[in-house]
Amino acid sequence: MHAARLHEYTDDMSDALSIDEVDRPTAERSDDVVVEVEGAGWCQTDNHIIEGMWTDYAPQELPMTLGHENAGIVAKIGDEVTLVEEGDPVICHPVQTCGICRPCRLGEDMYCENMAFNGLTTDGGFAEYLLTNERAVIPLPDGVDPTEIAPHADAGITAYHAAKKAVDELNPGDTAVAIGIGGLGHIGIQCLEAMSAADVVAVDVKDEALELAENFGVTETVDSSEQDLPDVIADLTDDEGAQQVLDFVGTDETAGYAPEIVAAGGDHHVIGYGGHIHEPCQALVDGEFSYRGTLVGQYTELQELVALVERGDVELHTDRYDLEEINTVAERLEHGEIEGRAVVTP
Ligand SMILES: [Zn+2]
Ligand SMILES: [Zn+2]
Repeated sequence: MHAARLHEYTDDMSDALSIDEVDRPTAERSDDVVVEVEGAGWCQTDNHIIEGMWTDYAPQELPMTLGHENAGIVAKIGDEVTLVEEGDPVICHPVQTCGICRPCRLGEDMYCENMAFNGLTTDGGFAEYLLTNERAVIPLPDGVDPTEIAPHADAGITAYHAAKKAVDELNPGDTAVAIGIGGLGHIGIQCLEAMSAADVVAVDVKDEALELAENFGVTETVDSSEQDLPDVIADLTDDEGAQQVLDFVGTDETAGYAPEIVAAGGDHHVIGYGGHIHEPCQALVDGEFSYRGTLVGQYTELQELVALVERGDVELHTDRYDLEEINTVAERLEHGEIEGRAVVTP
């Protein structure tokens, strides 16, 4: 089968991955599930993996097939699999967990001590077939297209996980700010709208992104390249600030907004990454706000997100590409030229 594989780390996206001929995976272990990939979302994390940014955080052996946002049709199952049958449409949580370590028993899939992460520590879904396990797959309801829903396996679940934590802290009438209305942000604002009665303010530097946010019914949009974001938030909140900020960008600049825009006791959720936080400790003491990290989400949260999709509360804005066009996708995302999410259809 064909698979888009990373052979060496590089900053040059134009020929980062090569399309190799590799063996099709088989269901050898009793809980294995082999999925014929219908859709695999391209993520900014794929660019970061190509650049070698994850080598200090996750064990990686090259060459490796990238792709952690996968959905498709079950092609083969191990002897003891009962959750799905061949032919079932599924979305794949990106992490194959062990189920027996303490974090797994607490439901904290992302802290599993024995995990394999598609496209990060083990072969992913930019290929015709993906090997995963029974604990990672979620059967899709009738009428939900696997190609269309694929990015929810990471982009969606990550945005949902952050939005759910934010919603826990949001009272009706509070303000939530979403910075960066791209692949994750456009999902995040829909989750906030579906799950809270807060005012949602969408921030971006591109007109198309702000128009997309308007279509999803946000209270206010802000072009931070033209307007002073702290001034706008102060005006909108009577100088209180936003109780929750979801930073889908994660640059020095966006993380640096926190002391000025987060309300006392509020949170600045770091979802996108690449930059650094350089704020004075005193700012956190004075405002008693927190920076909170976001690492994908739990299996059960992906089930909840699928429920929101089935209800029609969350839509994905996607464009489809062939596997052969994968480096074009990598380059286009690097240059900010993709609206919503690119989905590769191997
Ligand atoms: Zn991702
Ligand atoms: Zn575990």
